[in-house]
Amino acid sequence: MQQYLRIKAEHPHVLVFYRMGDFYELFYDDAERAARLLNLTLTARGMSAGAPVRMAGVPAVSVDQYLARLVKLGESVAICEQTGEPALAKGPVERRVVRIVTPGTLTDQNLLPAKADAVLAAVLFGPADPGPGDDAPAARGPGRRGRDGDDAVAIAWLVLASGDLRVTQVAAGELASELARIAPAEIVLPEDQRERLQTAVPVHASPPWHFDAARGRQLVQQALAVASLQAFDLDGQDLLLGACAGLLGYAQQTQGQRTLQLCSLRRESPSDYLRLDPITRRNLELTEALRDAEAPSLFSILDHCATGMGSRRLRHCLHHPLRAPDAVRARHDLIGALLAADAAPAVHEALRAVPDLDRIASRIALQSVRPRELAALRDCAPALAGLAQVVAALGAGESAALSGAIAPDRGWVGLLRAALLPEPAFAPRDGDVMQAGYDAELDELRGLRDNAGQFLVALEARERARTGITNLRVEYNRVHGFYIEVTNGQSDKVPDDYRRRQTLKNAERYITPELKAFEDRALSAQERARQRERELFDALLQALAGAVPGLLRAAAAVATVDMLGALARHARAAGWVRPTLAAAPGLDIEGARHPVVERVLEDFTPNDCRLDPQRRMLVITGPNMGGKSTYMRSVALVCLLAYCGSYVPASRAVLGPVDRILTRIGAADDLARGASTFLVEMTEAAAILHSAGPRSLVLMDEIGRGTSTFDGMALAAAIARALVEDNACMTLFATHYFEITALATRLAGVANVHVAATQTHGRLVFLHQVREGPASQSHGLAVAALAGVPRAVIAHARQLLAQLEEGHTAGGPQLDLFAAGASDGAAPAVEVLVDLLRQRLQEVEPDQLTPRAALELLYELRALALLPPQAAA
Ligand code: ATP
Repeated sequence: MQQYLRIKAEHPHVLVFYRMGDFYELFYDDAERAARLLNLTLTARGMSAGAPVRMAGVPAVSVDQYLARLVKLGESVAICEQTGEPALAKGPVERRVVRIVTPGTLTDQNLLPAKADAVLAAVLFGPADPGPGDDAPAARGPGRRGRDGDDAVAIAWLVLASGDLRVTQVAAGELASELARIAPAEIVLPEDQRERLQTAVPVHASPPWHFDAARGRQLVQQALAVASLQAFDLDGQDLLLGACAGLLGYAQQTQGQRTLQLCSLRRESPSDYLRLDPITRRNLELTEALRDAEAPSLFSILDHCATGMGSRRLRHCLHHPLRAPDAVRARHDLIGALLAADAAPAVHEALRAVPDLDRIASRIALQSVRPRELAALRDCAPALAGLAQVVAALGAGESAALSGAIAPDRGWVGLLRAALLPEPAFAPRDGDVMQAGYDAELDELRGLRDNAGQFLVALEARERARTGITNLRVEYNRVHGFYIEVTNGQSDKVPDDYRRRQTLKNAERYITPELKAFEDRALSAQERARQRERELFDALLQALAGAVPGLLRAAAAVATVDMLGALARHARAAGWVRPTLAAAPGLDIEGARHPVVERVLEDFTPNDCRLDPQRRMLVITGPNMGGKSTYMRSVALVCLLAYCGSYVPASRAVLGPVDRILTRIGAADDLARGASTFLVEMTEAAAILHSAGPRSLVLMDEIGRGTSTFDGMALAAAIARALVEDNACMTLFATHYFEITALATRLAGVANVHVAATQTHGRLVFLHQVREGPASQSHGLAVAALAGVPRAVIAHARQLLAQLEEGHTAGGPQLDLFAAGASDGAAPAVEVLVDLLRQRLQEVEPDQLTPRAALELLYELRALALLPPQAAA
């Protein structure tokens, strides 16, 4: 207990898994917490300070499964192993925390999600670092950190499973948006800045001095094994280096004895990517559907990747559309070449034989890779070579570079082939791992271990011949080891070199120098073979360390090819086309479809969209359910997919530069954060008005819906005008305020379009077609009727609407919607009733009615006829 409490005191905030034989045990509060989270049985053991010690445990063999569940819940776990030799221990065996498993620092294949990265991010607020040109660093000291006046924030993030470190610095106001892009599984930040970050992601607060820039420089240099950071643009960047310090310090702490190795460091600038705010990422349902987690998302319909690497790349790319047109075109080129050569299926086939290279590579670097992972790496060499050939033959985009990176290096392939058994054991301690013939000493040890029987038979025959003792026996027992047994009658023939080992009633047991030497070797052969396997395996890992950067490059290239292959296959199956990226601003899309909705609906109606500086806003009107939101999202997704490097769901698309996509779609209550529908709506609108520029694509869906009509309409009109005149962005503005359509006649750059619908036989038919000009009517009442609002209510609404429109156009006095006898006005109540009855009867087809339906109709008509005229109205 003393040992446990000492270890627990060093890890107060994480669950401690304390190894005891075949179990990991948890005690006290940890036990209670784990029992609750993992549904374990809570027991008690012994007493401490007069109270029973609460305890819960998990079997060591299935620990991964429990760790995976805990990490998913955002918990961290310190793994405390027995490190001492039980036989030599006086008192309890020595124990030590060998690693800490946290949501952001996973490297175990068993714990990592296959199709997503586990990202660890560090966040540090502070005064902005000087730009590359400024040479006077801002006065800085501990006192300046963490105050509200600090306007910048540095983010450093790391995918430990691939050794990829990135850093960026943004204005504090952009933090939420950047974190939504980076999507960390865990965030580290200084304790004194804890309250500045609102997030649902698990946070680890470290002491502020962990974020020291000088320490950051040292840690980055160490992890990258470089002597200077000059090449990385980090000199004088104290805020960034401070964030790196917090990040790497924490990451290293979780890895115990394994040393952290990084493979790449990149400084990202916000202008590298097309910006998407968190709301847009959600609204466009890039990787998760908005309402139903199981419903298809853009990612789920596109993910035809053969490997986890490809899937992770695709997920990343959908969240990171590129700004640089050349990089985007290179991806389009490669998709084009894959389609032209019909090579996507062959690529897919080759990829299926490739294991998760980047995770294996980083586990080689961390010295935690398992023999079977290395065997899988060795076995995929032919597939990689084949893939490299197919890719090289494409001769497009970056195929030469990709092929070069994928082609397996003879060095590691040769090493692995020579060193490993075809099917090595799970770990060196579990059995044979190394290839026969690889190491003479190991071969000999295995020979001893496996061939003891043969040796003994041979020895027995030899000794019988030499001594003439025909009943001499060579044997073994666990207490005395090997011996030669001679019965008492024969003892006079025993040679001089026999030493007596044991005397029995009618026999003597002897040992010879030769047998003793054999015994020494044989008894320890098993143990020494294991030891030797371990040494050889460790040496193999050392030898492979040099191959890690090349393997990571191969992994990145494989991921890219896999992703582009999947996009090519989707493009072919769904009839997508290559978009053209133009220098002139604007969008010209013909036959745009929604990539997810088109998969669900049998006949999706494609629509066109043209936006340019002279036509920067489309005011979209038409009935609810008419297809306005779907249309706007289709346009945004065509843009986004194009800049991700994919083909697009359209028949033609020419796209000018786009720097951001901003959306305000749908009414979502954010009650959890205490914001009403309308507040959310206005917060989103404010963000758009503050950040949209001429190259931004803005989607506004029914702004102003959450408040009273006049408030809402006034806000919608003012916002629309600001977007056209001040932001001058490209806007799709869907509204149910028909009055907004007048904007087109007042402001240059605004055009009206509408989603078409017709009413036939009193029924509304949606055409889902976007046509020029404003909608002729809003069909609101027809949609309400479709939804089953009682007919009497609809009829009353129709009457009020007629009066409203009349009063509105005539500029007459305001209508009292609830005036007693309001129905005495334009349409007498009895007429309304007759109207209703007539309409209902018109719908009836007597020949189609079952007797029961006819009876129900009769009841319905009677109820209607007996309504007092007032109520009918
Ligand atoms: P609301 O104003 O009520 O939000 P809306 O006009 O935005 O409605 P959407 O939500 O875009 O309408 O579309 C309603 C439904 O119509 C969709 O769920 C889809 O099934 C269908 N739909 C939309 N666009 C098309 C299309 N182009 N082709 C075929 N069906 C479509």
